[in-house]
Amino acid sequence: MDIASHIIISALLWLPVWFISENWLFATLFFLAGWLIDADHYLFYVLETGNFYIDEAYHYFNDSCRTNTLLLFHSMEVICFIWVLGLIINNIYILAVAGGFTIHLISDAINDKRYYGGVRRMSLA
Ligand SMILES: [Zn+2]
Repeated sequence: MDIASHIIISALLWLPVWFISENWLFATLFFLAGWLIDADHYLFYVLETGNFYIDEAYHYFNDSCRTNTLLLFHSMEVICFIWVLGLIINNIYILAVAGGFTIHLISDAINDKRYYGGVRRMSLA
């Protein structure tokens, strides 16, 4: 899913998350995590190609179907770790990041299923 769609989804969820949590920082972290998770796309692109061009990195993933590419923050293990960490140390801001990442992953999976017929690799295993 493109970053604009993730920003729109996260922005739409900001208000109900803020309303429920009554914490603007929690809601804002949820919003930011919902689309900044895609920084791992750029990291992968830089490590794979050695280039630092953001616009080329954007097209690198959008112009080709890279369903077998594992991205660090897009893995279930990392997201589960963040959820567990937030629950163990009882930090709502870590939970906000975990929530934003989870919403991002769910929308990616729905988009992949709809346009590519399957969900991209989301596990380190
Ligand atoms: Zn994504």
